[in-house]
Amino acid sequence: MLEHFERTSVIVKHLVLIGGGHSHAIVLKMFGIKPLPGVRLTLISDVLHAPYSGMLPAHVAGFYNYDECHIDLRSLAEFARCQIVVDRAIAIDFNKNLVICQTRPPVNFDLLSVDIGSTPATLSVPGAAEYAIAAKPVPEFLASWNQLISERQNHPQKPLRIAIVGGGAGGVELALNMQSRLGKEEGRRKREEGRGKKEEGRRKREEKLENLSSEIHLFHSGAELMQGHNQRVRQRLQEILISRGIQLHLKEKVCAVKKIERETNPQFPTDHQIFCKSGLELECDRIFWVTQASAANWIRESGLAADSNGFIQVNDCLQSVSHPNVFAAGDIAAMVNHPRPKAGVFAVRQGKPLFENLQHFLLEKPLKPFAPQEQYLGLIGTGNKRAIASRGNFMWESRLLWYWKDWIDRQFMQKFSNLPKTGDTQ
Ligand SMILES: Cc1cc2nc3c(=O)[nH]c(=O)nc-3n(C[C@H](O)[C@H](O)[C@H](O)COP(=O)(O)OP(=O)(O)OC[C@H]3O[C@@H](n4cnc5c(N)ncnc54)[C@H](O)[C@@H]3O)c2cc1C
Repeated sequence: MLEHFERTSVIVKHLVLIGGGHSHAIVLKMFGIKPLPGVRLTLISDVLHAPYSGMLPAHVAGFYNYDECHIDLRSLAEFARCQIVVDRAIAIDFNKNLVICQTRPPVNFDLLSVDIGSTPATLSVPGAAEYAIAAKPVPEFLASWNQLISERQNHPQKPLRIAIVGGGAGGVELALNMQSRLGKEEGRRKREEGRGKKEEGRRKREEKLENLSSEIHLFHSGAELMQGHNQRVRQRLQEILISRGIQLHLKEKVCAVKKIERETNPQFPTDHQIFCKSGLELECDRIFWVTQASAANWIRESGLAADSNGFIQVNDCLQSVSHPNVFAAGDIAAMVNHPRPKAGVFAVRQGKPLFENLQHFLLEKPLKPFAPQEQYLGLIGTGNKRAIASRGNFMWESRLLWYWKDWIDRQFMQKFSNLPKTGDTQ
């Protein structure tokens, strides 16, 4: 495909997209609809299926299957006549205009766009990087979650204790959706057992069920969950968590995570331990890490201007303040004039202005400034096909909101399905 493209078009510029995040998915779709002659497109992505954050928690709860909440980057790239390099970018050499990849040869560029997202910060807490399961990268997180669910299915009687570290929107949504899924698994087991032998079986079951327990503990360093949302939203979610039996540990700063070195003993199946600054300690089977977003180190190391947390500083046109031929969007970008929370909704909104400014840059036309909205509507799924709407001081909870959120998310994913095939994958 690439060779064909080279024969039929004069290649003037090479636009390289790093990361198949939400903004780049939109950019690719728009390049497919409105291609720019003479521009060669390459996507460097470490995955071929990019998770859509809006549906991820409900996927954990089992409401969506894998395909429903993942964007197929291969067909999207084919639609955009874009070559895919399946690899991780690990550095940028600005002297030679090369993106250095983990395993494949470097990729030269004229124009670069970065949409690689963020990962929860772990490095400052001893043991977290080794023993905790970060919510991102999503593929690793989902692999761990799926493994836990299959262990649960194979050993349903085994007590399970999960710790979630981080009480922002991600941690709260994960806690509720994980609990919902574990509850479903337990319900399924009870129904299956119900089909078995009658009286004696029931007695045995009751004995077993007494031991059946899955606990979820949510650790948060602040006094209140979900900073950035209004008081009513915070309070309501706290009530929901408590009413569902999720154990909240507020004002608890996790300062270390350890693996317990002992022989596996069915009496003590837990094998990790959490230590808090207050002296609180908890043994648990799995620790999920959903703390504040952090940026990949190689961004700053490459020489790009970055904020104090390592995110690429961009102007109102999503252009790097230090390197005019670099654009960035989504979590990895820090708009210097419009700081915003790291949320998928902003990455999605930046897709169109990013596309337009990449095209304008290539056509040597003036760039168009863009200001993200000050407030946004957050729809927080509570794991039971209900959702809470949060915007400014507004809060509303309803089952209808879940169906609305479901409709919005499916509409978004619909944009990337059933695309004509025309491209190339390396
Ligand atoms: C548990 C959890 C739940 C969340 N729920 C919501 C929600 O309901 N709504 C919401 O708005 N936000 C939610 N968020 C936040 C949301 O996930 C992010 O804000 C959003 O995904 C950012 O999109 P992005 O385009 O910046 O990057 P991402 O969606 O993270 O995409 C980045 C892509 O780049 C790839 N990549 C990364 N590094 C490299 C590299 N070096 N080389 C090549 N490819 C690379 C990744 O594999 C990924 O496919 C949640 C976050 C978490 C942790």
